[in-house]
Amino acid sequence: MIVMKFGGTSVESAAAMERVAGIVKARLVRKPVVVVSAMGKTTNRLLAIAEKAYKGDRDEAARLLEELAAYTLQEARPVCEEREWAEVSSFIEAHFHELSAFLDELAGLGEFPAQYVDLVSSYGERLSSRIVAAAFRHFGMDGVHVDAREVIVTDRRHTQAAPLCSRCYAKLEERVRPMAQAGKVVVMGGFIGSTQDGFTTTLGRGGSDFSASIVGAGIGAEEIQIWTDVDGMLTCDPRILPGGHRVKMISFAEAAELAYFGAKVLHPATVVPAVEKNIPVLILNSRNPENAGTRIVAERVPCANTVKSIACKRNIVVLNVQSLRMLMAHGFLKRIFDVFDRYQTPVDMVTTSEVSVSLTIDNTTHLDEICADLRKIAEVSVDDTSSLICLVGDNIRETAGLGARVFGALRSINVRMIAQGASLLNLSVVVADVDLKAAVEALHAEFFSTLDEEVFEA
Ligand code: ADP
Ligand code: ASP
Ligand code: MG
Repeated sequence: MIVMKFGGTSVESAAAMERVAGIVKARLVRKPVVVVSAMGKTTNRLLAIAEKAYKGDRDEAARLLEELAAYTLQEARPVCEEREWAEVSSFIEAHFHELSAFLDELAGLGEFPAQYVDLVSSYGERLSSRIVAAAFRHFGMDGVHVDAREVIVTDRRHTQAAPLCSRCYAKLEERVRPMAQAGKVVVMGGFIGSTQDGFTTTLGRGGSDFSASIVGAGIGAEEIQIWTDVDGMLTCDPRILPGGHRVKMISFAEAAELAYFGAKVLHPATVVPAVEKNIPVLILNSRNPENAGTRIVAERVPCANTVKSIACKRNIVVLNVQSLRMLMAHGFLKRIFDVFDRYQTPVDMVTTSEVSVSLTIDNTTHLDEICADLRKIAEVSVDDTSSLICLVGDNIRETAGLGARVFGALRSINVRMIAQGASLLNLSVVVADVDLKAAVEALHAEFFSTLDEEVFEA
């Protein structure tokens, strides 16, 4: 058995869904279970519509919702059997009716509580999975829709829910595995789950990759395939610098680090269930299915290059915390980190001196409260004009002179922070947003001018 996850662009239109059906059909002997994202930009659109509604622009919200419904119906129609269309179209319409009722509630509330964020954004995957299952039947497969909320059980942390893995695995084993064994092609929505008492949750943006790997671990898949719109993990983020090389093979540890530091192609938690069950993860391109993609494996991947890829996070926030009172005192760092802990805000990068600490965060939900609490113990300045660049590769741990190469490449760029991650396989620098592209270009030229062809596609 294998899990095949198709992202938003892979199911954005009737033509894209037809391509997906072809890709799955060609792999039926491997007994695929399919996980899909919402169609195209549906999740963003749903959230934007809800925002209009709770901020008082109910009419505009209604207009945008109608547009989204029309798009969904239009793309679904050509991939559904004539005799099934009445059922599928009324499924779609009923869901948009429900959404419209939520918009009324939100307009009344004047705010957008996290439970509603999950409820509204869940519709994207609930619709796409039902439509793709119908499309599979249309293209001659035994497609069966399973509502992911019935098998992905999570805690109650709305918008960032954590799956309760052993419960998920038990349900997947009981419900999904036998169907796949029997030759049915189960189609489930990614991203969504529900609490034990039945409230809809989501696993965080980009979470369908994570869903796929939970499904893979639960059914005991031999491989988890993440089908997307690029040829695999590239040596740099194509949105910042086009022309990166495909990484043919990379370790779980390296891939997780890249994902965490901004390589959107993979959700950072994806590797966790895969590592636990030692299931290889492949990143593949649904527009170029013949390409071998990137294979993510448990073992180290020997490589002549020091760096395997460069990830970036734009618009991070750097907090500089300084307190002269702390000279020669102890407990300064603890008091600082307690503040971030209180507001459940992850810190990405830290550099310290005796009396000052610089930290970067990219979740700014509680920035004001964090600064207020920090100001009780220190002076704080906030800089929100920075980007983080992270070089990843497990040779980093044993390469002398790496810092010199990084600073040499960035000689004309002001480096605001630099740190080598505790995992020893990353080296991160913070630069001004305006310098990001030039910095990535310089680092990419420095570390990828020659390529180990076992690991990279030239
Ligand atoms: P999907 O909808 O299939 O989940 P995403 O948009 O979430 O797709 O992820 C794919 C995108 O990730 C690519 O189109 C690319 O712009 C971006 N990306 C960022 N960093 C990398 C990288 N190092 N390698 C490949 N893609 C990357
Ligand atoms: N549709 C969700 C999102 O846009 C989940 C995903 O695509 O992985 O974040
Ligand atoms: Mg994604």
